[in-house]
Amino acid sequence: MDILKTKADMQAWSARKKKQGKTISFVPTMGYLHKGHVSLLDIGKPLGDELVLSIFVNPTQFGPNEDLDAYPSNIQNDLNLAQQAGVTAVFLPDKTEMYGPGYQTHVSLDLLPQYLCGRSRPVHFGGVATVVTKLFNIVMPDVAVFGKKDFQQLAIIRQMVKDLDFNIKIIGGEIIREKDGLAMSSRNAYLTPAQRASAVCLSQAIQLLKQKVAQGVRSVPDLAREAKALILSFDQTRVDYIELCDPKTLEPVETVQAETLVAMAVQVGKSRLIDNAVIKTA
Ligand code: AMP
Repeated sequence: MDILKTKADMQAWSARKKKQGKTISFVPTMGYLHKGHVSLLDIGKPLGDELVLSIFVNPTQFGPNEDLDAYPSNIQNDLNLAQQAGVTAVFLPDKTEMYGPGYQTHVSLDLLPQYLCGRSRPVHFGGVATVVTKLFNIVMPDVAVFGKKDFQQLAIIRQMVKDLDFNIKIIGGEIIREKDGLAMSSRNAYLTPAQRASAVCLSQAIQLLKQKVAQGVRSVPDLAREAKALILSFDQTRVDYIELCDPKTLEPVETVQAETLVAMAVQVGKSRLIDNAVIKTA
């Protein structure tokens, strides 16, 4: 497994592989890998001759009062997991390598970032779109795998790839969960035992909404009220948003549709956790 720390080395590595006729599969991450990340590597492995993992805690996708400085890291463990998953190259740049002095170009989308997490994290998706564009130009993958855990991010990447004509196939991986339903996340490491117990509220709220929809409830305000009440019955929780929306446009809906995205962000103690599911009526 090769470890590349500069953009020039990574680009040269990919160019060499491409010259040999090899295809490249790519999984971008911020590190502190868990089974959710590994599932994306497992999806990516058979889709290319080479499998590239990037680990970069991208500062431009964090707001001023967010957890950039506290973001967990364990590079040695990440490299071990990468090796076991069959990664052939790890791109491990630092902040100044990615954004040199005088950096001034940003990628932004008009509509998708206005919804859901974009409301409380106004700079987030611009940072994501910009860094993913850069990573695509550096790694030059044929296929890239992203998790549905970050549903809005995946929608934004798909739109960006279409709009900017990237010749890259985007694959979405299912959400990997702990036994009690909590979606795996590097941020779960921040939770105290009491907060960890409360963190199941998101997946339980999703289950409640699925049941209610199966029972025939269609009113979004009623569903959102019930989900919110369930979440607030857990200690140390604060609801950022619970929304039901169109899975393609992310526009809020008033009534449950044939396919409806339910998405939520909940502050549990100091950690902001997200979860989602697409609910089908048929
Ligand atoms: P992150 O390191 O949190 O930026 O995540 C890197 C990639 O892993 C993103 O595409 C995430 O959507 C994906 N991911 C994170 N958690 C999970 C999970 N529990 N299940 C599946 N994919 C995940």
